[in-house]
Amino acid sequence: VNKIRNAKLVLLGDVGTGKSSLVLRFVKGQFVEFQESTIGAAFFSQTVAVNDETVKFEIWDTAGQERYHSLAPMYYRGAAAAIIVYDITNMATFTRAKKWVQELQSQGNSSTIMALAGNKSDLLESRQVSSEEAEKYAKENGLFFIETSAKTAINVNDIFYEIAKKLLEG
Ligand code: GDP
Ligand code: MG
Repeated sequence: VNKIRNAKLVLLGDVGTGKSSLVLRFVKGQFVEFQESTIGAAFFSQTVAVNDETVKFEIWDTAGQERYHSLAPMYYRGAAAAIIVYDITNMATFTRAKKWVQELQSQGNSSTIMALAGNKSDLLESRQVSSEEAEKYAKENGLFFIETSAKTAINVNDIFYEIAKKLLEG
């Protein structure tokens, strides 16, 4: 019997890092160059099959603007998983991602599976954040780390699949 497990998942990270694009790629297999800014938050759902089990992700794509910061706890509290996104071509977004990790570690639920996504990995020539630095940070903080591209689709399904696997193991 195929069991379905519902899992609330939240995307956090600076505006422009590609949160909505990652969700659009994962949910619809699409990419747009001029993705509209998210207002408040947007909801999506998508399933992932792991062996004979299915995880149904209930995805909250948050805005990332500072003026919506006070809303963030509504989305990360009770979340089974959080994907914290930065843009590999923008060091400030990596700094911001670390702030989100700290906030989740102090205000969030300790059982929330956290993944760090270095997005826009297709823009290698503009890279500001090395994979080594991010990998080291992720290891020190017990996060799952992967570099993604919503544009080329590299590692996008993988990040959700890895989270689904961890959820089912846990
Ligand atoms: P959000 O504010 O975090 O939701 O970011 P968006 O998804 O709105 O993306 C911001 C901009 O970055 C848009 O113009 C996207 O087309 C672009 N973008 C998102 N992901 C990628 C990616 O992986 N590679 C490249 N080259 N551009 C991306
Ligand atoms: Mg967005």
